[in-house]
Amino acid sequence: AGWSVCFRRNVSSSPSRLQHCMSAWVIDQYGTNGALTYTEEIPVPTVNSPSEVMIKVHAASLNPLDISMRGGYGATLLKLRRDPMSVMGNDHDSEFPLILGRDVSGVVVDCGSEVTHVAPGDEVWAAVPPWKQGSLAEFVTLTEYEVSHKPKLLSHTEAASIPYVANTALSALVNAGGLCRDSSSNKRVLITGGSGGVGTFSIQLLKAWGAHVTVTCSHNAEGLVRGLGADEVVDYTAGDAAEQLDMMEKFDVILDSVGGETELWAMGLLKPWSGAKYVSLVTPLLPNTDSMGMLDGLLQAGLSLQSKAIQNIISSGVFYRWGVYAPDGPALDEVSKLVDAGKILPVVEAQFPFAQVPQAFLKLDQGHARGKTVVRVA
Ligand code: NDP
Repeated sequence: AGWSVCFRRNVSSSPSRLQHCMSAWVIDQYGTNGALTYTEEIPVPTVNSPSEVMIKVHAASLNPLDISMRGGYGATLLKLRRDPMSVMGNDHDSEFPLILGRDVSGVVVDCGSEVTHVAPGDEVWAAVPPWKQGSLAEFVTLTEYEVSHKPKLLSHTEAASIPYVANTALSALVNAGGLCRDSSSNKRVLITGGSGGVGTFSIQLLKAWGAHVTVTCSHNAEGLVRGLGADEVVDYTAGDAAEQLDMMEKFDVILDSVGGETELWAMGLLKPWSGAKYVSLVTPLLPNTDSMGMLDGLLQAGLSLQSKAIQNIISSGVFYRWGVYAPDGPALDEVSKLVDAGKILPVVEAQFPFAQVPQAFLKLDQGHARGKTVVRVA
């Protein structure tokens, strides 16, 4: 992880040659909110390879993943991704102190020699992969491929609300759901959990692509999701959502951001034998590797996915898939164009100053998100 002793601090808008340390919110062990610690002694993540980009963080945002990672979720698989030798039991690098925060909007301060797409001074946004040190810090360093120019029309605070949910939604809808800008106009899509971070982004993306969008959410989120373009809204708190949806025309794609028992009734809402796809964002992959160990966990998750996929394709000709976040700067370039064209708006429900990161986590802990919670870092 490259942690070393920090011997000097010099806070400025860009790291001077003398600045070795930066401020950050870290955890030194997994736990609840009490595990979050503010420190000014974290080594600045300097550019160490020709493709890296160092960003001065202006704003970050929180995702459910940050709450989960705070408690140790995914630790086994993420540790392997950070340090492949850990699978052999050669655990050289501890993940602590671990910096959470998966979204960044900020300004490039340094670039590796092979970086061509961005330059120092550029305003950028990015989703930070879960295996990298996060954005609740003064600086974050990513590869050029993960970074994109931020939409010109958005402030850093607004921009930070989008990258992680955008990369997740695009990966799920395009790679797993088979949708794209040119093939969505005649498609009926159902989004469960439409009022959260992924949902509020996905509604707008799908409407920009011309799809017909149905959403499930609580009664008090109906105005929000309709304002973002949802064509039909089902209040899951006002009775059996499955029954209400069953009375509608069947769907081409379901993006399930609720998980749990949803898949038990959602498969029957898809058009049979027509290539329709159910995509779940709530997968057992990381929990399995945490509870069963790497090999058993991956095996069990793979078997579960395969058996559900086979069962559904045989019984009704519908595809059962998992959607996963994937780092993708070029995809964010496309989102940036949609934002600057006014087709996608940031949905910022709450903002917190950097000093109040624990309060921001508490907000997320309460659930019932209506868009995103953002932290102003600079
Ligand atoms: P949020 O917490 O932002 O939003 C969840 C939303 O779902 C809230 O608005 C909540 O509001 C609503 N909700 C809760 N229960 C139901 C229900 N039964 N029916 C309809 N709506 C419901 O989460 P995100 O949008 O950021 O993420 C959604 C899920 O996707 C999370 O579980 C997350 O962990 C997962 N995810 C997975 C990724 C992957 O790579 N696989 C990547 C990103 C996210 P209310 O309770 O008021 O109804």
